[in-house]
Amino acid sequence: MDCKEVSETLFLFFDNEMEEELLAPFRDHVGTCGDCARKVDYTRKLLWIVRERTYRCSAPDRLRHRILISFEHRRFAGPH
Ligand SMILES: [Zn+2]
Repeated sequence: MDCKEVSETLFLFFDNEMEEELLAPFRDHVGTCGDCARKVDYTRKLLWIVRERTYRCSAPDRLRHRILISFEHRRFAGPH
């Protein structure tokens, strides 16, 4: 595998969607190429930050949404 192929398959690697037979050559190249090692490192950090932010932003929203739904239910399915 060369630098171009690593760039093209980088996101497959992080999404765990890379084909089995590409995993070894990918790791081999990243292990010997400083440029690609940095690229992998950078992408890993970037994805981590994106996931962390997505989690932090959506969790309270989902909670709020659930609380609203439970209020709605209580209003319509009340004692009357
Ligand atoms: Zn490379």
